[in-house]
Amino acid sequence: MKVLGLETSCDETGIAIYDTDAGLLAHKIYSQIEQHAEYGGVVPELASRDHVRKTLPLIDDVLEEAGLTKADLSAIAFTSGPGLVGALMAGATIGRSLAMSLDIPALGVHHMEGHLLAPMLEDERPDMPFIALLVSGGHTQLVRVDAIGKYKLLGQSLDDAAGEAFDKAAKMIGLPYPGGPYIASLAEHGNPDSGIKFPRPMTDRPGLDFSFSGLKTAFLTAVHEALDDERFNEQFKSDIALAFEQAVVDTLVIKCRRALEQESLKRLIIAGGVSANKRLREQLESKLAKIGGSVFYARPEFCTDNGAMIAYAGAQRLKAGQSSPLNLSIRARWPLSDLEAIGV
Ligand code: ATP
Ligand code: MG
Ligand code: FE
Repeated sequence: MKVLGLETSCDETGIAIYDTDAGLLAHKIYSQIEQHAEYGGVVPELASRDHVRKTLPLIDDVLEEAGLTKADLSAIAFTSGPGLVGALMAGATIGRSLAMSLDIPALGVHHMEGHLLAPMLEDERPDMPFIALLVSGGHTQLVRVDAIGKYKLLGQSLDDAAGEAFDKAAKMIGLPYPGGPYIASLAEHGNPDSGIKFPRPMTDRPGLDFSFSGLKTAFLTAVHEALDDERFNEQFKSDIALAFEQAVVDTLVIKCRRALEQESLKRLIIAGGVSANKRLREQLESKLAKIGGSVFYARPEFCTDNGAMIAYAGAQRLKAGQSSPLNLSIRARWPLSDLEAIGV
């Protein structure tokens, strides 16, 4: 079964073809980042317009890369939520109409299920059950995964998402949007003994929820103090980036260990843009090894938004006979726990 996947929930147009026998055949990503950069965040109207412009040409590109024509496609999967309404509508409308014209099934995929399953595109992937840490621009969640679609939310951020905290901190020291990767590369030159200290929010009490907004305030306070004392220079920026990154990583690692212990599991998947973070990967690997646990993740380009994860997630559900009706609906808000489980 050859499934065309379309991801258009935010500011990346991601298109891919996943074959349930041969694996991933082709994938392309077009990022709108440059267009939104001058506004410091995603402008929804610009995003939808650009998806409309880019989706069809990119579909032709991936078909060519895979050496296929539209007639070879067995089904189409598109992101139907959560995300920006106009952006979702662009992909859903194109996906649904293309499927209708080819007389093949189409399926609306949950964007976070796509992220969650992206590590399954790699050779090293875990058996279920496992714990998933979803850390992206809009979500920070710990989920117990017993099967595709059988998700139990164990904890989540009560305010900002981890990626959002990275982006806001980056903005405060003048870095471009999205700031996560810029903080990470500045942190490489940071001095671990700079004396800048940040809290590990909500780790001193039981539970699996997160809160990152206090960390953001602490970051801003430290920036203001450095400006007042005329210590705000390139080295300070690297030092504060490292202190911030380490605080987020420690917080995530503590909660992941706690979730594994609580559920008596040893396998952890990390997914979403922040799972591309090297320090997070390395520290999870070393800390989980001590308790006999292991961590799985996707290659960096499949951590942030991409079409491959949607093609993969869609293919699993289409293979099980699911599809979405012609009168498609998109959902800007959509809890993961509302999904139907397959194969259980
Ligand atoms: P959601 O999936 O919740 O709707 P999104 O699609 O915007 O949100 P993703 O594309 O999964 O989120 O991830 C983007 C986020 O990942 C941004 O906040 C970005 O700063 C962050 N990010 C990407 N790479 C890194 C990195 N190396 N270190 C830290 N954060 C990173
Ligand atoms: Mg994005
Ligand atoms: Fe995403």
